[in-house]
Amino acid sequence: MFKFAGSLVCAALALFLAGCATTPDSGEALPPDWSTNGILVKPVLPPRIQPIPLAVKTNLPAVILHTNQPATAVAKPMPILTWTSLDRWAAENKIGAVRRLSGGPTTRYYLDAKNGLLVLEIGSREAIWHGMQFHLGFAPEIIDNQVFVHGLDLQKNLVPLMLGELPAFGTNRVIVIDPGHGGANGGTISVLDKRPEKEFTLDWARRIKPLLEQEGWQVFLTRTNDVDIALSNRVAVAESHRADLFISLHFNSVAPDQKPAGLATFCLTPPGMPSTITRGYPDYLFQNFPNNNFDVQNLQVAARLHHSLLHVTGMEDRGVGRARFVGVLRGQRRPAVLIEAGFLSNPAEARKIENPDFRQKLAEGVANALK
Ligand SMILES: [Zn+2]
Repeated sequence: MFKFAGSLVCAALALFLAGCATTPDSGEALPPDWSTNGILVKPVLPPRIQPIPLAVKTNLPAVILHTNQPATAVAKPMPILTWTSLDRWAAENKIGAVRRLSGGPTTRYYLDAKNGLLVLEIGSREAIWHGMQFHLGFAPEIIDNQVFVHGLDLQKNLVPLMLGELPAFGTNRVIVIDPGHGGANGGTISVLDKRPEKEFTLDWARRIKPLLEQEGWQVFLTRTNDVDIALSNRVAVAESHRADLFISLHFNSVAPDQKPAGLATFCLTPPGMPSTITRGYPDYLFQNFPNNNFDVQNLQVAARLHHSLLHVTGMEDRGVGRARFVGVLRGQRRPAVLIEAGFLSNPAEARKIENPDFRQKLAEGVANALK
């Protein structure tokens, strides 16, 4: 609660301060614990199209098209490759004017929409929405003294967050909760006493189940005891129950580094967009997975879960990000999200995670988001 309020204050203070440090989550040498089944799947690329390396400062593509069209008007399936004036887009959608944050050499801009405050920074893929961090696919740029945002970020990030309606799951709502790891696959371990991640994810899932059932969800767990299940079988569980929603539960680690902390929530990267994290896996931009049919809902559910969990736990905010290598997400034919609820490599956070009261809070955070 305190930290959540802090985030809001932070976003508000950002109007006057250049600081408000954010914590990038990329480039960490983490174990690929929720990645593929240990197999690097060679993607099938269209002929002549080569993987495009991640842009550092200037984003792809080289050709910038000034467009008056809202991003949503561009036809599928070709990913949007245009840049759009944020001012023009905001005016068209009647959500206020883009303003520069005052004070210092800041290159931050904000858009005070009716349903929340958006803060963007020129040259940075990190952004703030509603007091919560999220990661853009492309860093906004200044063109002709205006803030330009990539069309994919409009379509896949700003529209879902600022203009979208939350997905309705109907009356017979079915959710599959996936406690990460199990059996011989323990996941990461607590820096305090080497207790394995698998133990905490299962307990968290068990605590979520009754809370969601009270809300009218039919809840299935991919595992109810200490067994290892292949990632493909975790997807198959969701398929067999015709789940409306899939949530995979994990805890993080960057051992031996004990400093990083906080909550990170991930969903699948939309085609054409660079991922927030790759963990050493190739990030082929134009791969299209079954779960990409749910790009909009994925982000909406991820943002809602992330927001709720920050609110309940007061954890540090590492943002809602995108990953393409996550085997348990990309085959899903329903909205699917993966949560990393803190670092077992951080002693203070490990102490919390080992506390059943904290795991109850984590369960409430998930349940509250899906009321
Ligand atoms: Zn894990």
